Amino acid sequence: MTRQPHSSSKVGKNSKKKSKASHKVGKVTLKDNRKRTESSRNWLLRQLNDPYVAKAQDLGYRSRAAFKLLEIDAKFHFLKAGITLIDLGAAPGGWTQVAAQKLKIGTTKGKAKGSQIVAVDLTDMAPIPDVTFLKADFTDEATVQALLENLTGGVDVILSDMAAPACGMTDVDHIRIMNLVEGAFEFACQVLKPGGTFVAKVLQGGTEATLLARLKKSFTKVSHFKPQSSRKDSAEMYVVAQGFRGKR
Ligand code: SAM
Repeated sequence: MTRQPHSSSKVGKNSKKKSKASHKVGKVTLKDNRKRTESSRNWLLRQLNDPYVAKAQDLGYRSRAAFKLLEIDAKFHFLKAGITLIDLGAAPGGWTQVAAQKLKIGTTKGKAKGSQIVAVDLTDMAPIPDVTFLKADFTDEATVQALLENLTGGVDVILSDMAAPACGMTDVDHIRIMNLVEGAFEFACQVLKPGGTFVAKVLQGGTEATLLARLKKSFTKVSHFKPQSSRKDSAEMYVVAQGFRGKR
């Protein structure tokens, strides 16, 4: 497990200059003769033709996923200055950038009083000022201990955008993601403050009935939400659980 030092962030650096720039990519085709597998060719074409990829680049976000969190928060309003937030499955950092902006962390005026973000991922993530990053597997007990050690009090918001690479077998992908969500939910029940929020990526069909029932027992409001910026052909959606009832 490694902890990254803090450094400066470039979010929004070009936003003013480029705000008038068109995000229209049009229908980009590949004209070079490079040998590519069909799947890498399809991936590249999809990236080149995706307006959210272009918009993320314009605004300095590290991933198009940033727009999903912006949409989720625009609907459910849980990102505020002064809160403690944990971002699970954070790399490359689009959600962490959005959270840092909303919590007013890493600004030139310094950190907003009380705001704290701890981000975790299996893979490395470039530093974001005033954000603690743990390179670790969330499913390891040691990671949970490390997270607890980095917290100065209870947690207001837990985000999980964790996803194992899709293997293409729907059932297997579903089980893998549900295991991650279950783990994140168990953790949320240990560390969330009463009234806290838990947001997690699930696959369509929403959450499993048993998990949904447990979420409803632990939170006063549970919703499913598919942001516009989530690809239409993707089965992903988000469960948003608000109003944590407290440890039982
Ligand atoms: N929210 C990110 C953003 O805005 O840039 C994108 C997250 S990406 C869809 C999913 C991430 O989950 C990957 O970076 C992957 O490494 C991470 N992940 C998957 N399983 C994990 C685990 N067991 N522990 C920690 N991170 C995990």
